[in-house]
Amino acid sequence: MVAIAVIVVVAGVVIPDVYTDFEKARLADCKVELDLMKAVAYDLGDGIYIPTPEEFWGEGFPDAEEGEYYYIVDSQDANADHGNDLDGCVEDSPGNSPRCPGMDIKFVVFCAHDHGDLAQYVYATDQDSPTVVLPGDEDHLNFKAQKDKGQGDYPKPEGKTPKKPKKK
Ligand SMILES: [Zn+2]
Repeated sequence: MVAIAVIVVVAGVVIPDVYTDFEKARLADCKVELDLMKAVAYDLGDGIYIPTPEEFWGEGFPDAEEGEYYYIVDSQDANADHGNDLDGCVEDSPGNSPRCPGMDIKFVVFCAHDHGDLAQYVYATDQDSPTVVLPGDEDHLNFKAQKDKGQGDYPKPEGKTPKKPKKK
């Protein structure tokens, strides 16, 4: 009886810590992965051209498997009826859009894992380093919702897991 009681107490104390450490490490991995995805996107486009999702996965990560990472390119005219609008910026007519210029996002990468209490998700854009959207944070950009939306000329985004990028 005593032994059982001890095990229960130990389990109650230790497991949540180990679990949290594991989850934190997983979140840190996601940030590293997003940095890599950003680098690959820039590399494919020489820092100027923004690769299409097809080019990004096909040329940048040909070994990618199904997963929970997304690469989405902002439609550069972004009238709501043409494709997506990542940045709230009508690039054809920036004066008429509330968050433009200064927020003209070209692409976003994010993960859609369940990060539990640690994050709603993690994203990086061409302008922002990997950023954790905390539970309870107001998420007006709501990049994660794009994974379920049509993307204009592009097919609906595919979730993938990047394997090592193609060597040059
Ligand atoms: Zn993640």
